[in-house]
Amino acid sequence: MLLSGKDVAARLKQQIAEQAEARSRAGRRPCLAILRVGENGPDVAYEERVRKNGIELGIDVKTLAYPADIQEEALLSEVEKVNEDDSVDGMLIFRPLPGQIDEDQIARAVKPEKDADCMNPIQLQRLLTGDASAIAPCTPEAVIAILKHYEIPIEGKRVAVVNRSLVLGKPLALLFLQENATVTICHSKTRDLAEVLHQADIVVTGIGKGRFFGAEYFNENAVVIDVGINFLDGRMCGDVDLETVRDKVAAITPVPGGVGAVTSTILLKHIL
Ligand code: NAP
Repeated sequence: MLLSGKDVAARLKQQIAEQAEARSRAGRRPCLAILRVGENGPDVAYEERVRKNGIELGIDVKTLAYPADIQEEALLSEVEKVNEDDSVDGMLIFRPLPGQIDEDQIARAVKPEKDADCMNPIQLQRLLTGDASAIAPCTPEAVIAILKHYEIPIEGKRVAVVNRSLVLGKPLALLFLQENATVTICHSKTRDLAEVLHQADIVVTGIGKGRFFGAEYFNENAVVIDVGINFLDGRMCGDVDLETVRDKVAAITPVPGGVGAVTSTILLKHIL
């Protein structure tokens, strides 16, 4: 089965549009601020997608773009302005930031209540302790949303996540734990990766290497969620070789049209 992120996003959008309309009627339109340093192509493309979704769903999306050589103090003061701006409900700051800026300082400066993508360590701590008010990073939440949409059971399942970054693998492992899965986190130093993944009922890939995973990595009943976004021969593809794997596993997300389609919608849900 091909797990369509577009279908998941469509259902989420219905709920978001209703809530956004209620908010507008009760006071003002919800508003997201996107802070972007430089002109990174994928960031600009993502921003455009969020803006388009915002228009469709009744959420204002305001872009604050800064030159690539902005200094840390100046960016901190911009974050502070957004923190204090009552017309903005939440913010997203694209990462990684340029080398002259200490990303940790920026992350800590974001008010937790306005942190739409789990930048501030306080949000991560909430996630770690299972606090219901935690806002997870958008991509891990999108992975769980896809599984739930297709009613794929998580509880008691063996899950392997191939990624240990703070934006994906680590928070995703926590979300799976909250759903009572048994989680293994894999990375570049994992030995016998294919053997480890073969044991898993659900595999999430996010290594950033186009079509790296062939059918030999998965068992035939596996559900595969491909988070990777790569470009090979000018075409977007995931970490999994979709064409050779799709008939050899139980279910798989395509790229494009899989996780990425849900992530930008989750961001707008966080604003509400
Ligand atoms: P990252 O920080 O570079 O993390 C990559 C992870 O993959 C690391 O944990 C790395 O292990 C591991 N890895 C790399 N090569 C491996 C190999 N051969 N075998 C096993 N593990 C390997 O990247 P990221 O920011 O987390 O993003 C990962 C991917 O997800 C990228 O393709 C990105 O474009 C995509 N992404 C998609 C979305 C979406 O909405 N769909 C959102 C965010 C990111 P080490 O820790 O040992 O280096």
